[in-house]
Amino acid sequence: MSAFAVCLFCGSRNGASPAYAGAAEDFGQGLARLGMDLVYGGGDVGLMGIAAGAAAAAGGRVTGFIPRRLLERERAKRDIARLVVTETMFERKARMIERGDAFVALPGGLGTLDEVLEVVTLRQLGYHDKPILLVDTDGYWGPFLALYGAVIRQGLAAPSASDLLAAVPDVAAALARLEAVRG
Ligand code: AMP
Repeated sequence: MSAFAVCLFCGSRNGASPAYAGAAEDFGQGLARLGMDLVYGGGDVGLMGIAAGAAAAAGGRVTGFIPRRLLERERAKRDIARLVVTETMFERKARMIERGDAFVALPGGLGTLDEVLEVVTLRQLGYHDKPILLVDTDGYWGPFLALYGAVIRQGLAAPSASDLLAAVPDVAAALARLEAVRG
């Protein structure tokens, strides 16, 4: 049986706060220490590259899924256990989602927002029931969570939608939650 795998969504840039890179490093390393596999977008750029590099350096098994078109743009990370080249963006996302036993989002840009909303909406429709954690480094997810709450308050999502994801204050809390989920 394969190890518990965590699918990570995060920025292909480093972002404004140095805390984001610190969180990516700690998360990659922490996951490897727990013996969990890391599944991610396969690039060696930004927070994605930092997390994957830290996990691999700490002996973790890292699998990257990257579309052929992005091999250069996102500098496909070759020094990981497994790099899977997909034909499309959709296939990449689908395979990451299928392989992950849980989803974690660190700070990230528009692609990260897309991925987070994809797993949230798929969970809302019952396509999966895997936990989704947002690591709120430096309060990054505050505005997103405010909008999410407004969507529910305005009656455009069920009150139970608040159970689809959970914000955790930092990487340590995320790792603790993942350990509890793995059991
Ligand atoms: P970003 O958060 O924009 O820095 O991007 C993070 C990752 O999300 C990168 O690997 C992007 O290639 C990926 N991404 C961007 N747009 C999409 C999309 N529409 N669907 C899935 N992944 C995406």
